[in-house]
Amino acid sequence: MKKIILISLLTCIFFLGCNKKQNSINLDDAKIIDLTYSFGKETIYWPTAESFKLDTVFAGITDKGFYYAAFQFCAAEHGGTHLDAPIHFAKGKQTIDKIPLTNLIGKAIVIDIKEKALGNKDYLIKIDDFKNWEQKNGKIFDGAIVLLNTGYARFWSDKEKYMGTAELGPDAVAKLHFPGLDPKAAEWLTKERKIKAIGLDTPSIDYGQSVLFKSHQILFKHNIPAFENVANLDNLPPKGAFVFALPMKIKGGSGGPLRIVAFVNSN
Ligand SMILES: [Zn+2]
Repeated sequence: MKKIILISLLTCIFFLGCNKKQNSINLDDAKIIDLTYSFGKETIYWPTAESFKLDTVFAGITDKGFYYAAFQFCAAEHGGTHLDAPIHFAKGKQTIDKIPLTNLIGKAIVIDIKEKALGNKDYLIKIDDFKNWEQKNGKIFDGAIVLLNTGYARFWSDKEKYMGTAELGPDAVAKLHFPGLDPKAAEWLTKERKIKAIGLDTPSIDYGQSVLFKSHQILFKHNIPAFENVANLDNLPPKGAFVFALPMKIKGGSGGPLRIVAFVNSN
């Protein structure tokens, strides 16, 4: 019974969020793709951030004879698959608990820039990359969740290959190399298109060599949150996926661990 109610509810959400002409997903047949990395010892964090820790509170047979396991974790907000809330780089903008759910659930498009990004660790994703996508797939529709596939997910969790350095501490930041969004493209997306969220498969929406984090600043000024270290984008079509990106609801948080999944038509 509960299952039927849940499925009906999800189906409602789907059809509310889907333009039937563009794509309608039949939940019964849809494939669910997990776009999230597990949190563990190997999880990649910014060189200056604390990494993920999981301590055992208890695991085993209790003195009353039943099995019991509980752990406690400690982690920086920004690491692994996570969400950046607008407040992260824009004073007075949304904290993670205040981002409307409508910004985090909806139809997604995937821009494939693997060829350019894999050939240049410092590649900046350009306005032209979006225009090229539009030539083949039509204009980026209002309310799109935009996902950028740089191909760097293939290097997870080898820090050196994924982000340019495995070193830790403030001096390692200058050694970061990975692709990101050109601030000019961020500006274009906020002015010329109406997207509701953006995400990519690198540690940061700004490229590794960024000093001012301008794409963060531009997007967040417009309350457009960013998903970082997103997994498995190769498994999504250029359009037609429906995404749920639900982060930990940390009161007043600037970001947090994100569970992001996509529903795609299986045929
Ligand atoms: Zn972040």
